[in-house]
Amino acid sequence: MELIHRSIPREFLDVLPDGMKFVHRHGNEFLVVEELRCPNGHSLMSDSVRIHDEPSIGITIHRGESRNRIYIDAFWGSHAKLFDFLIDDTHATMYADAVCPTCSVSLVVHGQCGAAGCDSERRIKLLLPRPGDFISACNRLGCPDHMIVVGGASPAVTALVSEINFFGYGDDEAFQGI
Ligand SMILES: [Zn+2]
Ligand SMILES: [Zn+2]
Repeated sequence: MELIHRSIPREFLDVLPDGMKFVHRHGNEFLVVEELRCPNGHSLMSDSVRIHDEPSIGITIHRGESRNRIYIDAFWGSHAKLFDFLIDDTHATMYADAVCPTCSVSLVVHGQCGAAGCDSERRIKLLLPRPGDFISACNRLGCPDHMIVVGGASPAVTALVSEINFFGYGDDEAFQGI
């Protein structure tokens, strides 16, 4: 899982939200998610599962009767993920029912997907520490749609940052949406 560098809009660094940090690795600059929370305030960061030497984002996915953990790379622009379960092709159009691993509150909200050809009307919403700031992603497995909303950043800047997150689309990981 090699880190691939994408440039970060300078304007975004001026309004860098709480819960995200700016790091240098191998001579390049990256945005890294430092803190995400459920609506009840529990941290979703997993210090025990580290990806690229940073805590990963850990959420629980309900699938039928089973509950499974998924760990997402905190590096913005990387889509490396570790699963504690296997996804097979029969679940290619599954919609992820994501909950907080601590209190099981739903992380899914209503919201139309922006990706062409995707009919999902639900999104996974992960809260940054400052009220009103959040990251959200389409809840359909395999859909690359996702975005960041940060107070003080113009829509044009957040759109640029959200596009960085599209990197990795087309790889064979099943959960590309986050
Ligand atoms: Zn919680
Ligand atoms: Zn979608």
